[in-house]
Amino acid sequence: MSGSPHASFGPVALGVSAALCDGELVAGDVLVQDGRVVAVGAEPPPGGGSGIAVPGFLDLHINGLVGVDFLSTDEDGYARASAALARTGVTGYLPTFITSPLEDYAGALEVAAHAQAAGAEHGARVLGVHLEGPYLSPRWPGAHDPHQLRTPDVDEALGLCELGPVTMVTLAPELDGALELVSALTARGVVVSCGHSDADAAVAVAAFDRGARAITHLWNAHRRWAPRDPGIGGLALVRPDVTVQAIVDHVHLAPETAYGAFLAAGSRFSLVTDAMEAAGQGDGVFRLGRREVEVQGARVALADGSLAGSVLTMDQAVRNLVGLGASFAEAVWAATGAPAQLLGDPELGVLRAGAPANVTVLDEELQVVRTLVAGAEAFVAAA
Ligand code: ZN
Repeated sequence: MSGSPHASFGPVALGVSAALCDGELVAGDVLVQDGRVVAVGAEPPPGGGSGIAVPGFLDLHINGLVGVDFLSTDEDGYARASAALARTGVTGYLPTFITSPLEDYAGALEVAAHAQAAGAEHGARVLGVHLEGPYLSPRWPGAHDPHQLRTPDVDEALGLCELGPVTMVTLAPELDGALELVSALTARGVVVSCGHSDADAAVAVAAFDRGARAITHLWNAHRRWAPRDPGIGGLALVRPDVTVQAIVDHVHLAPETAYGAFLAAGSRFSLVTDAMEAAGQGDGVFRLGRREVEVQGARVALADGSLAGSVLTMDQAVRNLVGLGASFAEAVWAATGAPAQLLGDPELGVLRAGAPANVTVLDEELQVVRTLVAGAEAFVAAA
């Protein structure tokens, strides 16, 4: 940490040439004070400034990175992960737990609660936990241990939510009791995303009508789109109230598959990394929960070849989406506004006067050069 913009000396200017505010590029500098943005379009610095300020990126699906596995790490691990995430432009995230034995959740949720309480101290903030499972389809387990998958049980699930800051749950809505669970979680304010699911269109409609609001990693580990059954993926693409989350690493989805989903979903298209502890570590053998996975280049897989998370970073996902044909503003929205709307927090994913100073500064190649979390300097690229 290189020190925070200090409140008592008045606003601090970021020295940028422009800011992306509500999808519009606003020329001029950005001023920050007391953890908040106090002005955009301010008097440019001498020489015009450099870089474009955008809202800080959000990642709602990340299992780990830089050797940290959120299910098994401690508070120091979260500190390292939060610092590493800030280097990729991420200012808020949901540590994501894959399906695990029930007894593994309590400790992991307690550590996550402590990490959340640390706020912006180490970099990106923990916004809550995403439980991916254990109520998933045995037909589409992906990298989840099939022996640990469970039948939905409202009391059991609400019990898990009592153990820590559960913000999102991925479940398969076609399982017995799953629709009741969608209602119960939604009533509690937990975001329900459908995934690892064999749901057909009719079940998908029922789940979304009950309050499920997203699909988890579109086209990975769920029922396929068939001519007369669009399945849960097809439904998610056309429902105006459903957020489409996708891993745009060009490994989980062919580039054209990802771009097609983006074109269909528009502002509902939300980038996630689904990164795991190997992200930022190079090739080798790593853990995902209790499972062993092998990393080669951009590919992470179990011994049987199933994809098992990614080594994607959010800034790379944004660059990938621009490379496919999205505009700069659209790609940034997919990493900021879209996930923020899913979480329903109006203070997230925005860059405007009065908003919390969660700001990422990008250069012309869309590389992250600086990240502020709640006004605190979390990353500055070496000059
Ligand atoms: Zn998954």
